[in-house]
Amino acid sequence: MRLEADLHTHTLASGHGYSTVKEMAEAASAAGLKMLAITDHGLSMPGAPHYYHFTNTINWPRYMAGVEVLKGVEANIIDTNGRLDTPEEVLKYLDLVLAGFHSETWYNGKTVEDNTRAMIAAIRNPYVHIIVHPGNPMYPVDLEKVVLAARSYGKALELNNNSFLVRPGSSPRCYRLAKLARRHGVAVSINSDAHICYKVGDFETAVSMAQEAGIQSSQVLNSSAEEVRQFLARHKLNRESGVMTN
Ligand SMILES: [Zn+2]
Ligand SMILES: [Zn+2]
Repeated sequence: MRLEADLHTHTLASGHGYSTVKEMAEAASAAGLKMLAITDHGLSMPGAPHYYHFTNTINWPRYMAGVEVLKGVEANIIDTNGRLDTPEEVLKYLDLVLAGFHSETWYNGKTVEDNTRAMIAAIRNPYVHIIVHPGNPMYPVDLEKVVLAARSYGKALELNNNSFLVRPGSSPRCYRLAKLARRHGVAVSINSDAHICYKVGDFETAVSMAQEAGIQSSQVLNSSAEEVRQFLARHKLNRESGVMTN
């Protein structure tokens, strides 16, 4: 399976990333990618950038090192109503909004029910495109309910290659997520979650898992840069016309 885009990466601005935007774009180019999303962490994470970091992306060129660069954020879900730590005034500047749970942020949910409720509420947020690492065992959710909500609202669910390194115990839940996404026809996004340029486009473990679960590249959002463009355009149109589903 070949993927043309990496939709989840971090730079120095995240506080615990190690490369610049330029280095990340050059690495994407070297890896043969057509599209790269820079998605630094939302405001509540220790070390995360000030919101000016996101609004000031207005200065970025669309292409860097020949790669189309999307302005993004990995926002944190911070309560059981699915509220994000990154306000609408910031989100509206961005091309791509990822959302998920992270430790050391303000999230206060405790149970599977809390987490599921919060994640489904984030799925309903018209600014959110992709739910990141929903298979993280630190924040267990009812995976089938999440998959069905993603289907209803036309959102993608992530298989995060970095989870197998930094989120121990992710494999069985990610595999179950992949099987459910396959069964219900929900778009999957397979990303590196690179925090250093050397990891851009590093998808191998997650791609193998998706294939093992029977997922074809046509079901993987970022297998095609053009498909990503259409997905984002469709969501923008829905958001602006007040339509919640697609
Ligand atoms: Zn994350
Ligand atoms: Zn990340």
